[in-house]
Amino acid sequence: MAVLICGGAGYIGSHVNKMLSRMGRETVVFDNLVYGHREAVKWGSFIEGDLKNPEEIEAVFEKYPIEAVMHFAAYAYVGESVIEPEKYYRNNVACTLNLLHAMRIHGCDKIIFSSTCATYGEPERVPITEGMPQEPINPYGKSKLMVEKILEDYAKAYGLRYVALRYFNAAGADPEGEIGESHDPETHLIPLVLDAASGRRPDIKVFGTDYATRDGSCIRDYIHVNDLGSAHILALDYLEKGKESGCFNLGNEKGTSVLEVIEAVRKVTGKDFPVTLAERRPGDPATLVGGSKKAREVLGWEPEYGDIETIVEHAWKWHQKKMF
Ligand code: UDP
Repeated sequence: MAVLICGGAGYIGSHVNKMLSRMGRETVVFDNLVYGHREAVKWGSFIEGDLKNPEEIEAVFEKYPIEAVMHFAAYAYVGESVIEPEKYYRNNVACTLNLLHAMRIHGCDKIIFSSTCATYGEPERVPITEGMPQEPINPYGKSKLMVEKILEDYAKAYGLRYVALRYFNAAGADPEGEIGESHDPETHLIPLVLDAASGRRPDIKVFGTDYATRDGSCIRDYIHVNDLGSAHILALDYLEKGKESGCFNLGNEKGTSVLEVIEAVRKVTGKDFPVTLAERRPGDPATLVGGSKKAREVLGWEPEYGDIETIVEHAWKWHQKKMF
C-alpha cells in the first residue's frame, strides 16, 4: 500500500516524501509543478497532474493501492490571496473537494491535511492552543479553515478520518542538504536574509519595528521542516491505529523576532549585510507562537531541531548550493 503525497514536489511535501521513503514506505507524489520542482521528487513514484481535473487524481487511485493521503498542495501567498481570492478558493478548497471525492469513491479513508496558524487570525494571546477562536484575517487562512470544516463534515457523514496539522513558520532544510526551500517569488524571511548574506540581494528589509514586542519587530515560531515531517509520520501512524480525527498545532512554543533571525544568520554565516528598517507589511500579526502540547501528548511528537541557529544552519547549507 502506498501513501499519496499531493504537492509532494513542494517544500514541505518533498521533505516528508524523503522521510517516508527512508522508512521504507511506498510513496506516490502527485503535483502540477506550478510551484513545485520536479527535481525535488527524488523518492517514490511521480505523477504530474492537477487536482482541478477530477479524472487525473482518480486515475492515481485506479493505478496505485493508496492507503492514506497527505495533502500539501495549495497556494500559500497571503498577500496574493487578498488580491486574488478566487484563485485561492478554487485551488485550495474546490480542488480539495476533487481529492476527497476520489478518496471516497476508492474507499480511501485517511488524510493528513496541511493547515496553518493563519486560521487563528489575530490571536488574543500566545501561545496559541487548538481550542482558541479561529478567525482568519485573509483568504488564504480562510481557505484552509474551510477545508478543516469540510473534513469535519466528511468525517461525520462518510467515515473519513483526518488529522489537520496547523503549521507555524516552516523553516530550515533537509539536514543532508539534498532538498530545501525554493519559492518563486520568495517572500519568506529566512531565505531572504540568506540571500542578503550571500550577496544575492542588496539588503534585508525589516517589515515593522514598532510592534509591541521585545525589540519592536514581529515574533514568529519557526519550526524545522523535518520536525513538521516527523509530525506527519506520527499522524499517519495515529490514523493507521484507528484513532479519532483531530487538529494539532505544530510549533516550537518559542518566539523569535525578525531582528533575532537576522542575528542568527550573521552568526551562522559569519557574514554581515545591510539591514533596512521598513514599514509594516499589511496583515502581519505582531506575535504568533504555537502551543504544541496536544501534538506532544497525543501524537508523541518531539521536535528535534528547535534551536533557531540549527534551523538557519540547515537552510544555509541548502542555500549555498541550491540545486533547484
Ligand atoms: N519579514 C520581514 N522582511 C522580509 C520578509 C518577512 O521583516 O523581507 C517578516 C514578516 O513581516 C513576518 C516575519 O518576517 O513578521 C515572517 O515572515 P514570513 O513571510 O517568513 O512568514 P509568515 O509569518 O508571513 O508566514
